[in-house]
Amino acid sequence: QPESVGETLIPAINRLQDIFSQVTLDFKLELPQVAVIGSQSSGKSSVLEALVGRDFLPRGPDICTRRPLVLQLVKQPPSNSPTEWGEFLHCPGKRFFDFDRIRQEILQETERVVGANKGISDKPIRLKICSPHVLTMTLVDLPGIAKVPVGDQPSDIEDRLCKMILEYIRHPTCVILAVSPANVDLVNSDALQLARSVDPDGHRTIGVLTKLDIMDRGTDASAVLKNEVVPLKMGYIGVINRSQHDINTRRNMRDSRTAEAAFFESHPEYVEVAAQCGIANLARSLNRILVEHIRTLLPTLRGHIEQALDKRIAELRVYGDMPPGQSGAARGALLLQLLDTYAVRYSEMLDGRSEHMP
Ligand code: GDP
Ligand code: MG
Repeated sequence: QPESVGETLIPAINRLQDIFSQVTLDFKLELPQVAVIGSQSSGKSSVLEALVGRDFLPRGPDICTRRPLVLQLVKQPPSNSPTEWGEFLHCPGKRFFDFDRIRQEILQETERVVGANKGISDKPIRLKICSPHVLTMTLVDLPGIAKVPVGDQPSDIEDRLCKMILEYIRHPTCVILAVSPANVDLVNSDALQLARSVDPDGHRTIGVLTKLDIMDRGTDASAVLKNEVVPLKMGYIGVINRSQHDINTRRNMRDSRTAEAAFFESHPEYVEVAAQCGIANLARSLNRILVEHIRTLLPTLRGHIEQALDKRIAELRVYGDMPPGQSGAARGALLLQLLDTYAVRYSEMLDGRSEHMP
């Protein structure tokens, strides 16, 4: 269950985000987001899907995520009608109720911009998912870091990918989910390296360890989860996503959560770090961290909004006062009158009778 503060605070922020995306402002409001980073095939898209609780992202052993996906999750009140749907910014008003169709649309929209041959682009795809089963927050799925170009990729692929990722995570308002596979030595983690470059104190980086189920025999991740290997201020959460075989056989989300729980229960080495294990714990930590994060940002946010408001009010005064309580028609008349005044002054200016534009 989400914490009550998160339920009120995060929706408020997302509401602001909606409003600010509709008006053009001369300042950009930086609102908290969560970005998922890591090397290619470390399990980033799988982690995101698990957080959403639905299958809708392209995943696989190859490069699947080739454009950033900005995913706005919106918690809906529960009701009897089908209340889970997705909507893309590039096809506004069209609701996708079938999550397989959402995946197809992501693939198509990816290929539309970058072609079918493994090309990449920093132009994001924007998707909103409304559901009673999500926590309201904005997540960003990013292409993974790859070192060797394939297909249509440029020779400086690693550089480009890193720049693209940094563009998201460099903002102090971005919470970073740094995903590393447990079957690769943590000191080689691209995710941790990148995260550290923008968040050296680690106050907005959460370590996520995937693939605990396919570690070398005789090894386990308990030391990492105890934060003893590469310590992170916020620590690590270990998760188990579906294997490629599970994906091919279309194992569903619920089964995979049950399998994850069974794995942790049957491995005594994880008993001590149980609070650090599983997607549910990741969701909870994330929510807690987001709320804390937003709370520390609120004073600055408020300052920005007040400044913009003052500026607009000053601008409005230039046009004269609007009498209070006007009806639509009266407003229309007033607007016409203003336009008239404008036209008169404009012609005066053209005639050289006045130096200033109204
Ligand atoms: P991304 O490139 O980082 O987005 O990684 P994906 O989520 O696309 O996953 C890459 C591959 O790793 C897929 O074939 C997944 O099935 C597999 N995979 C991801 N997480 C796990 C895990 O925890 N355990 C196992 N066995 N396979 C995983
Ligand atoms: Mg991916």
